[in-house]
Amino acid sequence: MSVTAQTVWNNCLLFIKDNIQPQAYKTWFEPIVAVKLTDNALSIQVPSKFFYEWLEEHYVKLLKVALTKELGETAKLVYIIKMENTYGNKQPFTEKIPSSNRSAVKSQDVDVPLNNKNPELRNPFVIPGIRNVKIESQLNPNYNFDNFLEGDSNRLARSAGLAVSAKPGGTSFNPLLIFGGVGLGKTHLAHAIGVDIKDKYPEKTVLYISAEKFTQQYIDSVKKNNRNDFIHFYQLIDVLVIDDVQFLSGKSGTQDVFFHIFNHLHQNGKQVILTSDKAPVDMQDIEQRLLSRFKWGLSAELQTPDFETRVSILKNKLYRDGVEMPDDIIEYVAKNIKSNIRELEGAIISLIAQSSFNKKEINIELAKQVVEKFVKNTKREVSIDYIQKIVSDYFQMDVDTLQSKTRKRHIVQARQLAMFFAKKFTKASLASIGSQIGKRDHATVLHACKTVDNLSTTDKQFRKYVEDLTKKLSV
Ligand code: ADP
Ligand code: MG
Repeated sequence: MSVTAQTVWNNCLLFIKDNIQPQAYKTWFEPIVAVKLTDNALSIQVPSKFFYEWLEEHYVKLLKVALTKELGETAKLVYIIKMENTYGNKQPFTEKIPSSNRSAVKSQDVDVPLNNKNPELRNPFVIPGIRNVKIESQLNPNYNFDNFLEGDSNRLARSAGLAVSAKPGGTSFNPLLIFGGVGLGKTHLAHAIGVDIKDKYPEKTVLYISAEKFTQQYIDSVKKNNRNDFIHFYQLIDVLVIDDVQFLSGKSGTQDVFFHIFNHLHQNGKQVILTSDKAPVDMQDIEQRLLSRFKWGLSAELQTPDFETRVSILKNKLYRDGVEMPDDIIEYVAKNIKSNIRELEGAIISLIAQSSFNKKEINIELAKQVVEKFVKNTKREVSIDYIQKIVSDYFQMDVDTLQSKTRKRHIVQARQLAMFFAKKFTKASLASIGSQIGKRDHATVLHACKTVDNLSTTDKQFRKYVEDLTKKLSV
């Protein structure tokens, strides 16, 4: 490393240190390494893409002032991202020009487009029915096995996933159904399997798609009158990953078409990987013949991770993001957020942000505040059963009465309220709500929701019901 880069950067640091809180300085500036100074451009090395994005978002002005002070108006800054855990072994280093300096850098070839984090997923269903179409896998390489940490809660699912990726279509795990609650890693694991297969078998056509998008494509194909092309397209796939199949509940047309695609793929030794937030036995409104197919292979559950696993997931994330945090804080967060890995990660990010914005040191006090707010602010998804129970209790009847066929006004109202809240507080479809609340159809549920909306604007007593129940269901 040249002496000049170092001295220039040291002077910048003195200025920066003077202008921000010690904790922020420690978190975001101490880990930076000055690498080189060429043509008035200072290259600094940062530990991760996250780190670079954070600097760009929060400290770019400060950096610019500091650098201009040292190198004058023509100063440029180049980030070098040193990724510890790069996927595959391409490009261990990436260089980026900060947005504020980008106009100043005209002919640099290191100017990477910065907004390509989330490119619009290209619809794989572009030219239906044409063979030799290159099918984009839609996989996210950031979800891989390397960063899917193993613990008791996921060991079975993880090793089944590895077995499948070693021999897609060649194990008895076909289909492989990964199920478990929200935020426990289903999507991550499903991608990881696909990514690993692509890595080992580049010639295989892998496709990841959410059940929701699959449904949408199917509906479009019916509208455009090319349902057969849709089916043929999916029959070309070697490894089909369908995420969140519970979404198919109540959608009999889509289930039907999926049944045919599934059979074709399975008979031809192709691999199918499914995820669901419910075990097959608990899936509502999925046709029996499809359910029985799901049970052909292996259903592997992702359970809530134990404390040790939660700690290692957090540590791994912080390490990858190049952020340091005291162990007692990490343990505090892991102890208090138990049921959802997405929330766990969210709490840590929010902790870093809080400390940076409010210029507070990361200590247990701050961790408590953040965790508290975080836990309070995340709406837990209530179940339709729970809603029926709360509504029945409120009107002092039992759930059977609420579901019964009677037309007695107060029972009808209770049932309509239960449907209304099921629509409001869960992601279930109208059809699935109907079938769970007294075997009604989706039109009845729709009507119930409208009636509740109307009554709560016109009828004071009824509005009180809605308010009381909303409170009960929100705690
Ligand atoms: P789901 O699809 O089950 O709702 P996701 O796959 O979206 O959950 O996971 C939520 C978050 O938790 C993601 O950021 C994911 O990377 C992370 N995560 C889940 N399981 C693990 C694990 N075993 N190791 C590391 N990160 C995990
Ligand atoms: Mg998911």
